[in-house]
Amino acid sequence: MTGESGGIQQAADVLRAGGLVAFPTETVYGLGADAENPVAVSRTFQVKGRPPNHPLIVHIESAAHLDGWAEDVPETARVLAEHFWPGPLTLVLRRSSRVPLEATGGLETVAVRVPDHPVAQALLAAFGGGLTAPSANRFGSVSPTTAEHVRTELGDAVDLVLDGGPCQVGVESTIVDVSAEAPAILRPGGVTREDLEAVLGYPLGVPATSDVRVPGQHPSHYAPRARVILVEPENVIAEAEQAQQAGRQVGVLLPPTFADAEVKAHAVVNVPASPAAYARALYRLLRGFDESGCDLVVASLPPEDGMGLAIANRLRRAAGPRG
Ligand code: AMP
Ligand code: MG
Repeated sequence: MTGESGGIQQAADVLRAGGLVAFPTETVYGLGADAENPVAVSRTFQVKGRPPNHPLIVHIESAAHLDGWAEDVPETARVLAEHFWPGPLTLVLRRSSRVPLEATGGLETVAVRVPDHPVAQALLAAFGGGLTAPSANRFGSVSPTTAEHVRTELGDAVDLVLDGGPCQVGVESTIVDVSAEAPAILRPGGVTREDLEAVLGYPLGVPATSDVRVPGQHPSHYAPRARVILVEPENVIAEAEQAQQAGRQVGVLLPPTFADAEVKAHAVVNVPASPAAYARALYRLLRGFDESGCDLVVASLPPEDGMGLAIANRLRRAAGPRG
């Protein structure tokens, strides 16, 4: 199934009937449901194994639809929407009564985004409403960046999978809370903090923890089956070889300064030198380590500016304590 119009119409019909459609966005593949159908929305939680009090993002066709889904939209939100939509930016706003509490995890706020992908755009246009779409993977695991990842992980639990090729951004959207007095980044992602601050004209806080229920803030999230450990870049090779020597099957994310180094480990990949390319590849590389039988991944954090902030955030979660 590709994003051709037949597939899109069929997908819109499945959604209208309360079914689940996995579809590509520029960030990762989403598990779409009719945002106004509480039963369909609840099914996405079951399929993902996600706790029902974790809110979802409502995907809409364009900024022109924003007022249908949110109330008291502040000027800041309009400015950000104008600059970054369609794109990997999610805005948290006061919810309108159109948004069922099932979609917001019981919160009075709603997260909204306009995805920048032709298949997602065509699907939203054909469907005509909003779609809740958490990443199309089991709760806590690595997000899918290809249709194949979705099929492998969710199989028959999804009614239909639209294939739009590999995702171009590769990590989830940046979530900015504009529902309170001072806007704040709840989760770093595909739009950089620097780009947001350039538009807003003032610095944005990135709280280490938040009282809002954001799955990406669970200690362990975005995690492959293999355990992930983070060390300083100059210690990656020694750490990996030591663990391999001790009988582990070690996957290595080799930092750019050590590209193509000889490493005695099970699976060694060079980290792409450009942060955007690294973000695009990150989840595919983590899945690859699982597929090649690694039980340990040794990595280091990139510099935390630009897209590096989101990459470092995902690697920390991947390395977080397992439940
Ligand atoms: P996912 O689609 O799995 O990447 O998750 C969507 C993200 O949006 C999660 O981290 C949610 O917690 C977050 N989110 C959705 N609605 C809200 C909200 N009302 N307040 C804060 N975060 C939200
Ligand atoms: Mg997710």
